[in-house]
Amino acid sequence: MAIEKGTFTSVWSDGTEITTDCQFDRETNNIPIVESSSDDSGHGNLVKEYVTDKDGATLIVCENCHHQILRPATVINKLQNGLHEKESGFCCDCCGELYVLVNGSLCVVQQDDDNEVM
Ligand SMILES: [Zn+2]
Repeated sequence: MAIEKGTFTSVWSDGTEITTDCQFDRETNNIPIVESSSDDSGHGNLVKEYVTDKDGATLIVCENCHHQILRPATVINKLQNGLHEKESGFCCDCCGELYVLVNGSLCVVQQDDDNEVM
């Protein structure tokens, strides 16, 4: 276990940012204690969540399970024309969700047999 202290920030569609102290495990990328994000907070929809470590680095949190920091990954996307496209993306080791950054926003990569993560 390599528990570190940081802060957990939720960004909402009305512009509200809520930051709380948190701990996370550097080895497993798990964030053990997170107050579950609810959609009835009065701030609209959850836009993104991230952890800031003690060095100020931003670590993107999985938007699906909310308690796992995404690790960088190469996502291989099979295009409609049969070609493969490698994109730098992110993978959640917990729930297996794949993301790529599009214009600064996380987008889920549709997972099927044609898409792989490296
Ligand atoms: Zn996840």
